[in-house]
Amino acid sequence: SKVPPIILNNGVEMPQLGFGVWQVPDDEAEQAVSTALEAGYRSIDTAAIYGNEEGTGKAITSSGVPRSDIFVTTKLWNSDQGYDSTLRAFDTSLEKLGLDYLDLYLIHWPLPSRDGYVDTYKAFEKLLADGRVRAIGVSNFLPEHLERLTGETSVVPAVNQIELHPHLQQHASREFHAEHGIATEAWSPLGQGKGLLEVPAIVAIARKHERTPAQVVLRWHLQLGNVVIPKSVTPSRIKENIDVFDFDLDTEDLAAISALNEDRRIGPDPATFDVG
Ligand code: NAD
Repeated sequence: SKVPPIILNNGVEMPQLGFGVWQVPDDEAEQAVSTALEAGYRSIDTAAIYGNEEGTGKAITSSGVPRSDIFVTTKLWNSDQGYDSTLRAFDTSLEKLGLDYLDLYLIHWPLPSRDGYVDTYKAFEKLLADGRVRAIGVSNFLPEHLERLTGETSVVPAVNQIELHPHLQQHASREFHAEHGIATEAWSPLGQGKGLLEVPAIVAIARKHERTPAQVVLRWHLQLGNVVIPKSVTPSRIKENIDVFDFDLDTEDLAAISALNEDRRIGPDPATFDVG
């Protein structure tokens, strides 16, 4: 494969770069995921709330790529938190995907005010023990939520998928994850495209390497050790975003991008987000 794996804390291999499908309508997901698989992506990131598990699954099962070569992630939506409801939601997601096991299942948001993530995670531990999923983890968890979770459950999450890009570098979370053997997965790794890819420092580094700004930002993540899941529905960009394994940023480039941190979120604050 084009994409090297990282080894999760339970020994499972996960491609360091995958394809995200947030905001891709179900009837376009099959085409987009098929294009990604043809371009060499072997990891797909969806979620129950994205409403495109069926289209995503169709692309996977009709691709001709062996199931065992594809790493499939989906996420439990907020309204399904709780032990029994989690087990039911998992079955629904697998059925929509048309798969008989999942590679990674994530709790989409911690919803601390509802106090349900520990029970939810205990259902995840059962799914893992039953061999229905190869790794379990969380998304949008702050260090304080991870502290509580690891104190009250037995399986350390393999992954925490959080908003992370040059304007929101998440130093505290990355440090916490490293100390506890949790892989950091960056959502909106390109900062959703807009302003970030026009920042002069990034444009200058792109020119220097004869690459695009998106490739430079992805390369910055990869060299820091983050897992990335860039999204695009444009075939040329889908190809461009995986074509990042034949060049290196130097120390100066990395420092210039690291100087862009503004601790500025695009998405909601996990401490207070309470929707769904
Ligand atoms: P992203 O940072 O991947 O940016 C995607 C956008 O950037 C595209 O829509 C396009 O406008 C632009 N873009 C992509 N490639 C480009 C290129 N080569 N050149 C120029 N512009 C380009 O944003 P995202 O979709 O928000 O995040 C990626 C994935 O992360 C999602 O699809 C989803 O799977 C996941 N995600 C998870 C959560 C969560 O709460 N866990 C939240 C948001 C996203």
